[in-house]
Order: sequence, then structure tokens, then C-alpha cells
Amino acid sequence: MIDHTGAAVRSGARGEFGGLIPIRPATGNVAVCLRGHRLDLDLYDKLKPYSHRYRRHGTLCEVCRAQEGCDPGARRLAEWAHLDVTVQYEPDTAPGDGLVLVAHAPVAGTRAGRIELRLDGTEVGTVTASPCVSCRTATLDYVHVAAEYRRLGFGRTLVAAAVARAPSYRWTAPLPDGPVAQSFRARIAMRRPGQPCAHAGKAGLTR
Ligand SMILES: [Zn+2]
Ligand SMILES: [Zn+2]
Repeated sequence: MIDHTGAAVRSGARGEFGGLIPIRPATGNVAVCLRGHRLDLDLYDKLKPYSHRYRRHGTLCEVCRAQEGCDPGARRLAEWAHLDVTVQYEPDTAPGDGLVLVAHAPVAGTRAGRIELRLDGTEVGTVTASPCVSCRTATLDYVHVAAEYRRLGFGRTLVAAAVARAPSYRWTAPLPDGPVAQSFRARIAMRRPGQPCAHAGKAGLTR
């Protein structure tokens, strides 16, 4: 969606929720689009759109846009927004507009830290992870995305946000119940956890 009128259309009242574009963790140079079309060969102009819905910059693939224009039933993957997963706000300082990550400190007596994905101040997804600073390991405990925000990359972006807090750790993740959760889990390149370490249960911190 190209929005020339600024804040006037950001309420969601026009039903943009169904038209949300995907998001991906921001990386340096984007070499391929979400369908694998090369963007680094100067075959087409590179378009750098701005998502007013998310208040994030993004990328638009001309090949996908033409393809989706011919097939109204195609998934909308031509344009996606970039979210820098290393930018994580404290709960009371997070901007109230757009798409932001909010990091919550572990609950007293536990090691599990929680990161929330907020859209216009409303939680749309969450991830919890339990790191062990002694072992330099971390377990991805739980990933959840609200039903109407699925298949947009919110889950994988939350996983990347958790890993960004301890990128040098050895990460593991359990196998969840149910085919939808398992389909998501099977795309995450993490082994299943082994035995809990000797420090499990002791209070620690995420960073
Ligand atoms: Zn493409
Ligand atoms: Zn440990």
C-alpha cells in the first residue's frame, strides 16, 4: 500500500489488517526477494518503499509485483518491511505507533525473558527464551503470533529478536504440539534441548 496521506489511514478502520505486508529481520544487503528473485543484478530498478502501517522501510520486488498483478489469488510477497531486531525497547519507552519490539525483564526467580512484538501499541506476537550465562546456552521456550497476523514473518522475526540478545550462545528449541506449530518449528535451525543444565531454575538475566 502506498499511502500519501500520512496518519489519516493508519487506524486500521479501512481493513488494512488483511493487507499487511510481510516483515523480515533487517539484514545488510537484500540479495533476493521472498520468492528468490535476485535483486542484486541490476535487472530492475530497486524500489525502497516505506510502510506507513509499520513505520518501517522495506523492499519491493518488481518481478513479484507484476506476477501478483496477474494473479489476484497469489500471496502478497512483492513488498516486505525490514525490522531491525537489535532495536528492542523497554516496555514504558516503546513508541506507540508502528511495529516495534519490546523486551521485558525476566520475572523474579526465573531466567525466562520475553520479547513482545507490538503494532500500534497492541501485542501481536511474543517470544520467551531462557538463557544460561554460565553455559552460554539458551532455549527458545515459546513463540506465539496472534491468528490474524500469521504467515507474515512475525514469528521468525521474533525468533531472530531472541537470538539477537545472545547471538554467540548455543540455541535449542523444544518440539511443540500440533501441525501448525511443528511446521513453524521445523523451519528454525535449532536442535532440541538436551538435559537441563546444572544452573536451570536459578535466577539469571538475559543481558
Ligand atoms: Zn520477487
Ligand atoms: Zn547452565
